[in-house]
Amino acid sequence: MLVDPKDGRCRSCDSQLEIVGVDDISMTVTCAECGDTYTVETDAFGDGCMTYYVGFMAGRLEGGDDDDA
Ligand SMILES: [Zn+2]
Repeated sequence: MLVDPKDGRCRSCDSQLEIVGVDDISMTVTCAECGDTYTVETDAFGDGCMTYYVGFMAGRLEGGDDDDA
Protein backbone atom coordinates (compact mmCIF):
# COMPACT_ATOMS: atom_id res chain seq x y z
CA MET A 1 0.00 0.00 0.00
CA LEU A 2 1.59 3.23 -1.15
CA VAL A 3 1.89 6.24 1.12
CA ASP A 4 0.89 9.55 -0.35
CA PRO A 5 4.05 11.68 -0.46
CA LYS A 6 2.19 14.51 1.19
CA ASP A 7 1.62 12.29 4.22
CA GLY A 8 5.08 10.90 4.61
CA ARG A 9 8.30 10.16 2.80
CA CYS A 10 11.41 8.04 3.17
CA ARG A 11 13.53 9.21 6.06
CA SER A 12 16.65 8.57 4.05
CA CYS A 13 16.00 9.93 0.59
CA ASP A 14 12.62 11.65 0.77
CA SER A 15 11.03 9.36 -1.81
CA GLN A 16 7.74 7.51 -1.78
CA LEU A 17 7.12 4.83 0.81
CA GLU A 18 5.11 1.67 0.60
CA ILE A 19 3.58 -0.05 3.60
CA VAL A 20 4.55 -3.68 3.48
CA GLY A 21 3.35 -4.90 6.84
CA VAL A 22 1.62 -3.97 10.06
CA ASP A 23 1.39 -5.41 13.53
CA ASP A 24 -0.40 -4.32 16.69
CA ILE A 25 1.80 -1.34 17.38
CA SER A 26 3.66 -0.42 14.23
CA MET A 27 3.83 -0.46 10.45
CA THR A 28 6.73 -1.57 8.32
CA VAL A 29 7.49 0.67 5.39
CA THR A 30 9.91 0.30 2.54
CA CYS A 31 11.20 2.96 0.20
CA ALA A 32 10.55 2.57 -3.51
CA GLU A 33 13.73 4.43 -4.33
CA CYS A 34 16.51 3.41 -1.95
CA GLY A 35 14.98 0.28 -0.47
CA ASP A 36 15.32 1.46 3.11
CA THR A 37 12.95 -0.52 5.30
CA TYR A 38 11.96 0.43 8.81
CA THR A 39 9.06 0.55 11.22
CA VAL A 40 6.97 3.57 12.08
CA GLU A 41 4.14 4.23 14.49
CA THR A 42 0.64 3.38 13.37
CA ASP A 43 -0.25 7.06 13.16
CA ALA A 44 3.06 8.14 11.70
CA PHE A 45 1.41 9.75 8.71
CA GLY A 46 -0.86 12.05 10.65
CA ASP A 47 -4.03 10.22 9.73
CA GLY A 48 -4.96 8.93 13.19
CA CYS A 49 -4.28 5.39 11.93
CA MET A 50 -7.42 5.42 9.82
CA THR A 51 -6.08 5.71 6.31
CA TYR A 52 -3.01 3.55 6.29
CA TYR A 53 -3.07 1.29 9.30
CA VAL A 54 -6.75 0.42 9.13
CA GLY A 55 -6.68 0.55 5.35
CA PHE A 56 -3.86 -1.94 5.17
CA MET A 57 -5.59 -4.23 7.64
CA ALA A 58 -8.86 -4.03 5.73
CA GLY A 59 -7.16 -4.68 2.44
CA ARG A 60 -5.43 -7.70 3.84
CA LEU A 61 -8.66 -9.10 5.22
CA GLU A 62 -10.58 -8.55 2.01
CA GLY A 63 -7.88 -9.14 -0.52
CA GLY A 64 -7.19 -12.42 0.81
CA ASP A 65 -5.23 -15.15 -0.54
CA ASP A 66 -1.52 -15.21 -1.16
CA ASP A 67 -0.95 -11.50 -0.97
CA ASP A 68 1.64 -11.60 1.77
CA ALA A 69 3.96 -14.17 0.30
ZN1 LIG B 1 14.55 6.10 0.38
